[in-house]
Amino acid sequence: MFFLLSLCLVLTGCGKIPPPRSEFVLGTIGTVNLYQGGTAQLYDTIFSRFREIEGAMSSHLEDTEVVKINRSAGIMPVQAGRDLITVLSTALRYAELSGGAFDPTVGPLVKLWGIGTENARIPEEGEIREALGLVNWRDVIIDEEAGTVFLRKPGMELDLGAIAKGYAADEAAEIIRKAGLPGAVIDLGGNIYALGTKRSGTPWRIAVQDPRNERGTYIGILEVRQKTVVTSGVYERFLEAGGRRYHHILSTADGYPADTGLLSVTVIADTSIDADALSTALFALGYESGRALVDSLENIEALFVFQDLSVRGYPGALETFTLTSGQYRLVR
Ligand code: ADP
Ligand code: MG
Repeated sequence: MFFLLSLCLVLTGCGKIPPPRSEFVLGTIGTVNLYQGGTAQLYDTIFSRFREIEGAMSSHLEDTEVVKINRSAGIMPVQAGRDLITVLSTALRYAELSGGAFDPTVGPLVKLWGIGTENARIPEEGEIREALGLVNWRDVIIDEEAGTVFLRKPGMELDLGAIAKGYAADEAAEIIRKAGLPGAVIDLGGNIYALGTKRSGTPWRIAVQDPRNERGTYIGILEVRQKTVVTSGVYERFLEAGGRRYHHILSTADGYPADTGLLSVTVIADTSIDADALSTALFALGYESGRALVDSLENIEALFVFQDLSVRGYPGALETFTLTSGQYRLVR
């Protein structure tokens, strides 16, 4: 009996360790791998937390807090839970830091373009102007004490697509940390949190998506311990029309997909909410202004991939990066 039991502990294949879990959540495929520390219960806890966050922050699902706030824009404040208040406050901070290039009130523009949906189309100039008039993070009023959110103008709409997955990854990381697991990987559609280290104690190797190719092809590898790695780029969702490609990160300056000479930005940070917001913000800002934003923050590394296929790191991201694709070149 003792022999059998210890054999089971050695041969982890006794069927006790559940495989990694993948589900469609937060508008993407979410995969969590808890390795040897995984239990069905822990996976359940993490995925219900994802659903809870999605249930508050989605702008598509029925009657989420965000949907209710959008519906009451210009009319009245709406009750919001701790999760939403936290995410929205952080979003407003990045809106300010990025001079509005990142803006959680981008909803009317996102809906107009519909990129990534069946209704994707190139809008008329007038429509873009009208939608742009509704985009302004300064018109979001959070009442911390009352626990409410109010959008000042009718027609305004929150869209937390550029930040909610990062928050969800942080929340999952917290659950895993509390459970005392030595290492785990959370992947929410490329929004990655690599907790601890591998069992061997070696760093995690995170592939950086090739922005010109399908999901799963990569330009190189980042080696990290206890870090989150988040990429924003032109590959994720786009509309092809008239020989041009229109991607899903929109410029709050002109209402068109942001064209700053970049194909993607990858941010390496300690918290995923920051990495998620920043990868979008840096992409929208471009390299020069992006670097200035990174300089104003601590413990942020960014990898910029340019349309001319050059790759730059800032300030030190290249130190942990190995280029593997022959099509790209490093510029130090
Ligand atoms: P993904 O979530 O696809 O991995 P991002 O984190 O960069 O990529 O988020 C892009 C999403 O953020 C868009 O689909 C849209 O919902 C929203 N968005 C688009 N432009 C902006 C912007 N300028 N500021 C904030 N959010 C934006
Ligand atoms: Mg983002």
